[in-house]
Amino acid sequence: MAQVIDGKQLASQVLEDAAAEVEWLKHHFESVPGLAVVLVGDDAASQIYVRNKIKRAKEAGIASFEHYLEADTSQATLDALIQELNDDPGVHGILVQLPLPEHIDEARIISSILPEKDVDGFHPANVGALSQGRASLVPCTPQGCLIMLRHVHQDLSGKNAVIVGRSNIVGKPMAALLLQENCTVTIAHSRTRDIRKVCQEADILIAATGSPGLIQSDWIKPEATVIDVGINAIEVDGQRKLIGDVDFDGASQVAGAISPVPGGVGPMTIACLLLNTTRAAKNQLT
Ligand code: NDP
Repeated sequence: MAQVIDGKQLASQVLEDAAAEVEWLKHHFESVPGLAVVLVGDDAASQIYVRNKIKRAKEAGIASFEHYLEADTSQATLDALIQELNDDPGVHGILVQLPLPEHIDEARIISSILPEKDVDGFHPANVGALSQGRASLVPCTPQGCLIMLRHVHQDLSGKNAVIVGRSNIVGKPMAALLLQENCTVTIAHSRTRDIRKVCQEADILIAATGSPGLIQSDWIKPEATVIDVGINAIEVDGQRKLIGDVDFDGASQVAGAISPVPGGVGPMTIACLLLNTTRAAKNQLT
């Protein structure tokens, strides 16, 4: 049976690091890192994510500034709020929960956040820095995945890494990080031919598709490390249940290590957001 990579446990260590940074900043600068969270609309999943992020931020001693806007908020109003947060010295990190309503230009909003306050790491300047290997604010989910991989492997160098999914928030930045770790990286997606065969070559397999249970045990190389980013809500016997992109029961018979859903990448993502917030504050204060 595969080793189960405990995201909750690893996340609590990252949160301890973030809390220690907060104490250091308080001591040296008499300043508490501030995280502004902006939620537009009433998407149920986004509300849960935002609530969890704010709860953990408070636990780490980070000040949170919450902005809940109606779904029909105009682009101009949101632009003005971002400008206000950019100008506020008490706000070191700005998180705009995605997705935004369709009438809002998401790319324009992301680009309008000051890169040094972009704790999601989605601003083009931060994306470019990551691809050049000099980023300070790295997208939270891939950052969390990398911590999980480093927990299993002392050295990732030379390993075949296959990432299934090519989104800007997970797949692409994950590829950049693993390339920096000297992995041989393949990105697979919905147009990849014989995707099962591609996955079978992976020493490291990252699933980030939003396709529940896509990755079956016969896609996995024996002893591979499997990180399941997917969060999919399904109904089982009338009950809502969260599952990943990987068939966990089957995969854990073949893999060497595997992250569960829930309790895997999800808690790591939040912990890395708070780490990014303390980093952003440190960069702005020092
Ligand atoms: P996107 O929808 O933006 O991207 C999904 C990617 O997966 C696309 O590149 C798509 O290919 C590919 N894909 C979808 N279905 C298949 C398939 N059947 N075979 C091969 N490739 C496929 O999703 P995100 O990257 O935003 O999120 C992915 C998953 O991760 C979701 O379940 C999301 O909820 C979860 N997530 C979890 C987080 C966490 O903290 N744990 C954080 C962020 C996301 P193509 O480009 O060709 O369409």
